Amino acid sequence: MRAARLYGAHDVRVDEVDMPAPGPGEALVRVRAVSICPSDWRLYVDGHAGGKEPDWPFVQGHEFAGDVVALGPGVAGPAPGTRVAVEPSWPCGSCDMCREGKHHICRHVRFASFPPHGGALAQYVVVPHDAVFPLPDALDYVAGALSEPLCVALHATKLAQLRPGESVALLGAGVIGVSTLQMALAEGVGPTVVIEPVAERRALPLELGAARVFASLDEAKAAGVEADVVFDCSGDIPALDQCIRLARPGGRIVVIGIPRCEEITFDIATARRHELTVTFSRRSFGLVEEGLALLASGALRLRDLPVERFTLDQTTDAMEMTGRPGRNLRAVVEP
Ligand SMILES: [Zn+2]
Ligand SMILES: [Zn+2]
Repeated sequence: MRAARLYGAHDVRVDEVDMPAPGPGEALVRVRAVSICPSDWRLYVDGHAGGKEPDWPFVQGHEFAGDVVALGPGVAGPAPGTRVAVEPSWPCGSCDMCREGKHHICRHVRFASFPPHGGALAQYVVVPHDAVFPLPDALDYVAGALSEPLCVALHATKLAQLRPGESVALLGAGVIGVSTLQMALAEGVGPTVVIEPVAERRALPLELGAARVFASLDEAKAAGVEADVVFDCSGDIPALDQCIRLARPGGRIVVIGIPRCEEITFDIATARRHELTVTFSRRSFGLVEEGLALLASGALRLRDLPVERFTLDQTTDAMEMTGRPGRNLRAVVEP
């Protein structure tokens, strides 16, 4: 089979590799769509994650969907031929966090495309049998792949415990931003504003119900924006500091984005004086069925969002596009 393998910064090669075989408890999936996450792009440009290099060559890709083609010994289903979305987070099931039901912060979690565990930018991938979820008929493979960032937004929205009428501000109008926006509005929040520096991304949030969209924090502050709940969906390095400046006294901040560095500085004086609550959100777990149902029902507009499609041989182009955010919200590789 063919796999797109990263050999170091900016060096993706499509290689012929051995076909994986599903072991006990596993399923073999023919990958049909992999959407490229900004976290994939960071490893692609930096050649390391937090200073750590994976063992090269390394296969990336954790937002994916495909067809089950074979089951390992003792696995009852889903039947080969079933179209599935895949949960990329695979907890151990036995540590203290798993026992408390916090599988997403499992101490021994394996994650597709988080070193040392490889991902899905290949024609086939082996995954735990309980990580696959049948795709509703209404959803194509691209929507199945996008259910992963959607679940990240869903988890963060639940963490925020939004109350009807609360004002909300969001930094970033990528897939996570527009998903969080729609879920917040569905919770009955009050006026919701979005800050998005990329001009081509500023129309969609308005279509989806945002009250206003600003190009920068300064523009929003000049308009007097202040919010009960602020989400960072951008991962920009100054984002936490900007959230602190946007929150009302007593406000709450939920950080979803992953900055491209290990440490940041922020205005702790304002955060303390305003007694802000900051929650850091970590991936998601156990929400795929809920996310797929939201997508299939049309309650959440995501399956028609603008994406650009690439073949496996064009994985480098897909990575480069991810580093130049424009109107298309995701690059999707179809291996
Ligand atoms: Zn992702
Ligand atoms: Zn665990």
